[in-house]
Amino acid sequence: MTREHRERIGRVYLVGAGPGDPGLITLRGVECLAQADLVLYDYLVDPRVLLHVRGGAELVCLGHHCRQRTIGQDEIHERMILAASQGKTVVHLKGGDPVVFGRSAEETETLRAEGIPFEIVPGVTAALAAGACSEIPLTHADHSSCLALVTGQQRSGKQGVPLDYGGLARFPGTLVFYMGIRSAAQWSEGLVQGGMSPDTPVAIVRRCTLPDQTTVRCTLGTITETIRRAAIRPPAVTIVGEVAGLPPCLSWFASRPLFGRTILITRPQHQAAMLGRRFSELGARVLVQPTIEIGPCEDWRPVDDAISRLDEFDWLVFSSANGVECLLTRVFSLGCDLRALGGLRLAAIGPGTAEALTCWHLTADLVPAEYRAEVLADALAVHAAGKRVLLARASRGREVLAERLRQSGAAVSQIVVYTSNDVEQIDPHVEAALLGGEIDWITITSSAIAQSAVRLFHSGLESAKTVSISPITSETLRSLGHEPAAEANEYTMEGVVEAVLRAERKDAASR
Ligand code: SAH
Repeated sequence: MTREHRERIGRVYLVGAGPGDPGLITLRGVECLAQADLVLYDYLVDPRVLLHVRGGAELVCLGHHCRQRTIGQDEIHERMILAASQGKTVVHLKGGDPVVFGRSAEETETLRAEGIPFEIVPGVTAALAAGACSEIPLTHADHSSCLALVTGQQRSGKQGVPLDYGGLARFPGTLVFYMGIRSAAQWSEGLVQGGMSPDTPVAIVRRCTLPDQTTVRCTLGTITETIRRAAIRPPAVTIVGEVAGLPPCLSWFASRPLFGRTILITRPQHQAAMLGRRFSELGARVLVQPTIEIGPCEDWRPVDDAISRLDEFDWLVFSSANGVECLLTRVFSLGCDLRALGGLRLAAIGPGTAEALTCWHLTADLVPAEYRAEVLADALAVHAAGKRVLLARASRGREVLAERLRQSGAAVSQIVVYTSNDVEQIDPHVEAALLGGEIDWITITSSAIAQSAVRLFHSGLESAKTVSISPITSETLRSLGHEPAAEANEYTMEGVVEAVLRAERKDAASR
């Protein structure tokens, strides 16, 4: 290989994506994804892990769950080699850890033979994640001093090392079988014939770390029947050994308050993450279907004009976090800095808007006790008489704030700093989940969202319970013929989460 060729050649990263939960990829794995030009990913990799891939990179799904044709091992090698020899950075993203039943040896052998530099980035393998999330200690001071990772799927024909069931039956610790659901009859009988007691405890952990994780406990002698009766399908690992019989029956993971619940978040995509994270931490499966899209302002001239004479105003009033973000971004993009706002007093409609100001190192002078335009207007009225007030708002919204401030004797100017439009198309996955009755809660976090949600989901809205952020939002829902099942006490995202928790507790108590 010439020096020039070596310099041009790209690098290949074999990256462990972890067992499923997108938070379980390593920081190094994320760095590799952010640099990649080509990402080949196994079908078991959660799509949310792919959010770390930079825009413009090519994504190729390998494997049978995608509708595309299955890509064989030889083709994977060819694609990696071709891309790397064109100077591209390639990531092969593998479920769990690359060196555990990941065929990494074949890949590294080929890459080395081709002179392509590579790196292996470890990941959390399914056995360890299953132990953690079903709360089964894989090693235990009193019960198990070693751990074996075993394949339930031996290669057909003469290839591959056959399993020594006698040896495994005598193994003085915990066995974890991968790919062993369809072959459970063979390996469990092999172990029993090898001398392991059919009463040995077994735990089958399916889709570990994901919101629909299940753990089914049985014994070695009853495993085939259990899999058949519970209709357990891959991917699952089976933990065999005394540790699988230890309490508790319900793990920390499965006892989280919203485990088993599905929540649909309807905020614009860029604002859904925080709420989604909170619900996920509480154990819920989270789906996102924005009902409103936030877009850039269509005419910046009135905004720029107001920015150029901010010193003429006494108050700057924000009625949403989006308003804060859009106006301040514009202030900075015009070459101004925070001093442009130095002479102004700032009002925020609610705690979320006030928090958005703190991200810009600004503190609201006024946040009304209740998150409602009328209450903000009343609170401002005291200060506003004879004052010049600038309202930063969306392309649509209620007029009540401007009207009431004018009535209080303020000179009010309004600038539209962003557009808000209804989403017209529902994601087919979300629609199927709605129609299939899979969704337990739908969050409705503003009146505009309520209106758009009723239009977008139609009768689908009736298949789930809705949680509303405030009395105003609830009123809007009611006026459209839908009674919310829960309402936040505090009109914030955290208030919405609390309302769902309260309703679920009440439900559990009445059962
Ligand atoms: N390299 C992977 C294993 C790939 S083999 C790792 O280190 O985890 C595929 C097998 O892994 C599946 O058949 C199943 O046994 C196991 N597996 C992968 N993801 C899993 C999950 N979320 N829950 C349970 N088992 C899983």
